[in-house]
Amino acid sequence: MSFVAGVIRRLDETVVNRIAAGEVIQRPANAIKEMIENCLDAKSTSIQVIVKEGGLKLIQIQDNGTGIRKEDLDIVCERFTTSKLQSFEDLASISTYGFRGEALASISHVAHVTITTKTADGKCAYRASYSDGKLKAPPKPCAGNQGTQITVEDLFYNIATRRKALKNPSEEYGKILEVVGRYSVHNAGISFSVKKQGETVADVRTLPNASTVDNIRSIFGNAVSRELIEIGCEDKTLAFKMNGYISNANYSVKKCIFLLFINHRLVESTSLRKAIETVYAAYLPKNTHPFLYLRLCYQDLLAPLGRWLNPQQV
Ligand code: ADP
Ligand code: MG
Repeated sequence: MSFVAGVIRRLDETVVNRIAAGEVIQRPANAIKEMIENCLDAKSTSIQVIVKEGGLKLIQIQDNGTGIRKEDLDIVCERFTTSKLQSFEDLASISTYGFRGEALASISHVAHVTITTKTADGKCAYRASYSDGKLKAPPKPCAGNQGTQITVEDLFYNIATRRKALKNPSEEYGKILEVVGRYSVHNAGISFSVKKQGETVADVRTLPNASTVDNIRSIFGNAVSRELIEIGCEDKTLAFKMNGYISNANYSVKKCIFLLFINHRLVESTSLRKAIETVYAAYLPKNTHPFLYLRLCYQDLLAPLGRWLNPQQV
């Protein structure tokens, strides 16, 4: 064993960015979740996802949202560039998913990214490719409908360890279907689709005029959609609202299906899941579980406190 002190060196900036990006984007489904949130922030009503090899070879997301201005294409993939937040105070009132400007930057550090986009008043669409956060060449004019198409190719091409850890494309595809299926239930009124490249049949598909229950039916099946109870409650003092659909005692599955959205973000909560399962255990056959879709919205109670502590912010 050697007891000689190691030499401390400063890491190269691209290495630092790549490590940071690998923390944000751990698998194709994470990248897709971030990009879907961007489509929703851009007020899209149609979001179509195409993947190849579980998203490891290709992810392509097409939306019909606001598009990105040509002038912004230079910096859109740099870290901390966003159209959603300007000042620190804006954080208290932000209603978009994004605000940090980290997702596209992270993705561009671990994959080849191409953006094709057209705004409502843009004369044509523009296409630009990125690597390590930077534009590779000036954006090129091209044909295209209003909205944005982002392609992500060869995810983790520059992180060999991560690529080796994700060697099962069908498992990755399963995670992608899970994320998109859940966002489509939560966003009735917006049409979603996911398919493998070259296939004609989509594995997730919801229609623009479908209700939440319609979407639960198309993603989770007819059996559960017939046995749902609509629930809701509100607490003014704690400043929260909750609503959703839960299965009744006639329905049970082998594994609990729990869609939990807090302030519109898909999250996991083991403690809430366990508490709910304890209640259901009294009604369901042994070793079977419920379906739940809960949306919880709360106001940040500390936001007004911040204003009180710092009276300059009105
Ligand atoms: P954030 O969402 O935190 O702002 P992102 O890195 O996810 O950061 O995106 C950076 C910026 O790129 C966004 O602020 C937005 O202006 C633009 N953008 C990304 N995706 C889309 C999209 N699908 N449609 C329109 N604009 C987009
Ligand atoms: Mg974002």
